[in-house]
Formats: sequence, C-alpha cells, structure tokens
Amino acid sequence: MALTEETLADLALSRSSLDRVALERRRPDVLGELLGDARTWVVEVRGDRMQVTPGTAAPHGAGDDRSADDAATDDSLRLVLRAPEPADRDGLGLHLGRDTDGTAYVGIVTRGADGDADPAEDGWLTLRQAGEALAARDAGIFTTALALANWHATHRFCPRCGAPTVPVQAGWVRRCEREGSEHYPRTDPAVIMSVVDPDGRLLLGRGAQWPEGRFSVLAGFVEPGESFEAAVAREVAEEVGVTVDDVRYLGDQPWPFPSSVMIGFEATTRETALTIDPVEMAEARWVSRDEYRDLLRSGTIRTPSGISIAKRIIEHWLGQTVESVVPPGTGTAF
Ligand SMILES: [Zn+2]
Repeated sequence: MALTEETLADLALSRSSLDRVALERRRPDVLGELLGDARTWVVEVRGDRMQVTPGTAAPHGAGDDRSADDAATDDSLRLVLRAPEPADRDGLGLHLGRDTDGTAYVGIVTRGADGDADPAEDGWLTLRQAGEALAARDAGIFTTALALANWHATHRFCPRCGAPTVPVQAGWVRRCEREGSEHYPRTDPAVIMSVVDPDGRLLLGRGAQWPEGRFSVLAGFVEPGESFEAAVAREVAEEVGVTVDDVRYLGDQPWPFPSSVMIGFEATTRETALTIDPVEMAEARWVSRDEYRDLLRSGTIRTPSGISIAKRIIEHWLGQTVESVVPPGTGTAF
C-alpha cells in the first residue's frame, strides 16, 4: 500500500481470506463430518502457539491481492497443515472456514507445551513472532484460532448461573449444561490513536510499566455506552490532559492478546501542554518527523512490534516505514 492513502490497508492481522461459512456451524456434528474427510486441513493450537514451516503458503483465493510494496508481511512462513487424525475428535475443535476451493480448515486446541522442549525449535511460534511472515490465509487462520482458543480457555463456566459450559456449533458457541443458555465469543474493542499538534508533531507516550525508550501512540479500551470517537477523546484527555479537535478513522485489526480488536484513529489538537496521568503513563512527549527519525537511528527510541497497528499508525504519520529509516536487523524494534 502507499503510505499516503487515507486509511491503513493490509494490516498484518486483518488479512483473513477464508469464508467463515457461519451457517455450516449449525449443522449437527459438522466437526465430526469434517474430521472424517481426508480433504480437510487440520491446524493445531498449543497454548498460544501454532506450528510454522519455512516457505510460501499454498495458493489461496481472492482477497489476497496485497501489493508488492507492502512492507508489513513477507510470506516467508506458512502454517503446518495436516490431514485429520482419530485423536482430533477428542480435542476442542473449531470450524475456521473454507478457502475458495471449498477446502475446510479445522483448528484443534490443546493447552500448554510439551515438557521442557523449546517449542520454537520445532517451529511452534506465537502470533507475535510469526504474524508478519505469514501470508493472508495463514495469518487469518492463526488470528481467528487464537482468539477462539483464548475465549474458550476463560469461559468454561456460565456467567448466568455458574454451571459448566460446553462448546457447541463447531466451537463458536458455549452452552450452559444446566439451563441451556448460549454464550458467544467475546471481542473487546480498544481505540488507538495518533495525536498531532499544529506543527505536525506526534504525541508519543511510554506506559507506566514499559521499559525505557519504548514509546507508542496512546490507546485504551472502549467503555460501555461509549462511541469509538468518544473513547479516543476520553483516553487522550485522561492520559495526557489534552483536548482533541478532530478524530478520523484509520483502520482496525483483531488483536487476540487475549481478546481485543484495535480500532485506529488520527486526531489533532491545538493544545501542546501535557499533564500526565502517573498511574497510566511514565512519560509523554511531542516529536517532529525529523526528531523521530533521529531517535530511531540513534536507538534512543524503539518502535512497536511489526504486527501492531501502532507501528502502522506511526508510519502513516511519518510518511515512510520504520524499516526505510532504520534497516531491519539493527535491533531497535521490540
Ligand atoms: Zn447457566
């Protein structure tokens, strides 16, 4: 994508290309049906990891038309896919969807790693580690499977009556065993925003628990009863005491750490005096584009991770990618 576009395209975790075929989930024992079909692809989720292998992903369908200059991803890893095995029927199954050829993808969730082995040695990576290097189909599969696995792990009991719940509808619903109430996967919206002053300077903050030198744009959860735009204004006012004038949508992506979706905005303000909330913020500062480039080159400041919308929001303001300022491998990213 061109960085001059009005919104952020091809965010690393927003590239899902499978058809979710939601109506199929209602079919009785659809997972049993899919796991009995040798043409189904199975992917495993172990804890927060999935297994990857080097190489370009298998051909996938429409909706994966990333342009060649997209710096966010490089397609150098693909998920390990395998045929169904009898033991899969005992696991927590997730019907993740079908590709354009009609091939179904089923996630099987197991919690935790095996023994003392280093999971990364066998190619078991986290989404933060692998997300940038996966092509669209596989990034979408990993993001969806991880979000669902995280939800299942923390919703084993009914929020109405406390009885155990069981997965139904191919892993997309949990039903209370006592009263039959149905509970759906949760996604918690969070806003994240650039704030720019009249001189074009960007507001950067360091969270109270963050290490020295780690700076990002501000972010926070949307509260009940609040619009996204109101949440942007409230978070900026709370964290640095600044009133924003204009709030414009930039893009969004799922963020399953454990269960969010990040909605990105750019905002402007005429106020430059900062009053920091010491509970949330260690420090905050304004930087010009030239200053930011100098801070990157000197290693004084580190950028948010490659799969994050935060990095893309900063690059949107900067007008160029971080990698074009500081070549990859120079150790300034975190
Ligand atoms: Zn209940």
